Amino acid sequence: MSGVIESQENKDLRAAVAALGARHGRGFDRAALWSEAAKLGYLGVNLPEAYGGGGGGMAELSIVLEELGSAGCPLLMMVVSPAICGTVIARFGTEEQKRAWLPGLADGTLTMAFGITEPDAGSNSHRITTTARRDGDGWILNGRKVFISGVDIADATLIVGRTEDARTGSLKPCLFIVPRDTPGFQRSRIDMELHAAEKQFELVLDDVRLPAESLVGDEDAGLLQLFAGLNPERIMTAAFAIGMGRYALAKAVDYATTRQVWKLPIGGHQAIAHPLAQAHIELELARLMMQKAAALYDAGDDIGAGEAANMAKYAAAEACVKAVDQAVHTLGGNGLTREYGLASLITAARVARIAPVSREMILNYVSHQSLGLPKSY
Ligand SMILES: Cc1cc2nc3c(=O)[nH]c(=O)nc-3n(C[C@H](O)[C@H](O)[C@H](O)COP(=O)(O)OP(=O)(O)OC[C@H]3O[C@@H](n4cnc5c(N)ncnc54)[C@H](O)[C@@H]3O)c2cc1C
Repeated sequence: MSGVIESQENKDLRAAVAALGARHGRGFDRAALWSEAAKLGYLGVNLPEAYGGGGGGMAELSIVLEELGSAGCPLLMMVVSPAICGTVIARFGTEEQKRAWLPGLADGTLTMAFGITEPDAGSNSHRITTTARRDGDGWILNGRKVFISGVDIADATLIVGRTEDARTGSLKPCLFIVPRDTPGFQRSRIDMELHAAEKQFELVLDDVRLPAESLVGDEDAGLLQLFAGLNPERIMTAAFAIGMGRYALAKAVDYATTRQVWKLPIGGHQAIAHPLAQAHIELELARLMMQKAAALYDAGDDIGAGEAANMAKYAAAEACVKAVDQAVHTLGGNGLTREYGLASLITAARVARIAPVSREMILNYVSHQSLGLPKSY
């Protein structure tokens, strides 16, 4: 990879994280890897130095997640804790919120989950109904969320709610930090067909009382603040998918090089080699778009980053699904054994196609925003 695309410093970061990933590998202990990565400064690499972070951006944080994923040990909570929550607090939080959360998010002693999805709104987040109303100096939240990752291991969840505009009566999005043990904040685990250390939860917020300082940022600029967190989420989901695709591809290449059924290794048959070459090309292309999105985001171009982050997430998810599918096929029967551990990635790879924004919603966005076609949603 040329220095034009990635600085020497970031190449060194990539190599160092790859070495950490290789030490932990597929059978990794999530909590142990989380704290080791944090101690080495990798989890907070995007957060401001003044609050214990590395002073880098999404370019660096996405490298960390991609390399851990390609070693078989992705940390899903990186997508939400430092990338969404850390970014939103660093950019829009009060001095007190920054001091309370950023050093802990950076050194791994604190984790924050992120909750926007609701059962009745789904992909249409304009329809979310979790509502915050003023209660003296503070707030009372009511609503429901679904598929929220890692609520059990997170010290708090950044909840996207709405406040009522006193003048117009319309609901404006806004963000609240809800500590895990707040009365009325109930979670129940969703039984997912995923082999992952992080679990998903349905949340019920039943008259959750919060102090005034739980509101992050400005009540009137909620949407802008929300998008500041959603672009990093898409960039990090791309990193997650590219890492997983690379992991599966490497297993397939290794197998195709050694497995011999006729006169030559199966990788000598173009029917096996070409799809693997295509998977490699598509993962590389997706990474290039991810790097573009990260570069735009880190340069402060939120609008430009929005389009690129959507495209990167789309490309990475598609490349990952294809790479995993081809990897499983390359191993024949072994592709479905527990010993080789690839079959469970078929389900895991689909996550990036659905979350945090589905393939179809990205196609809707690109049709309308990039191509100027009529809005269909
Ligand atoms: C493993 C996992 C972890 C997650 N973690 C979190 C988390 O931490 N926090 C959080 O807030 N959320 C999380 N989510 C939720 C995720 O963001 C949502 O599942 C996703 O946004 C899709 O919403 P939905 O499941 O309600 O699907 P729906 O919106 O019901 O969509 C179902 C299908 O219909 C299609 N569709 C919908 N509308 C249109 C349209 N207008 N045009 C074309 N097609 C359309 C979609 O593309 C999709 O294929 C997670 C999900 C998963 C699977």
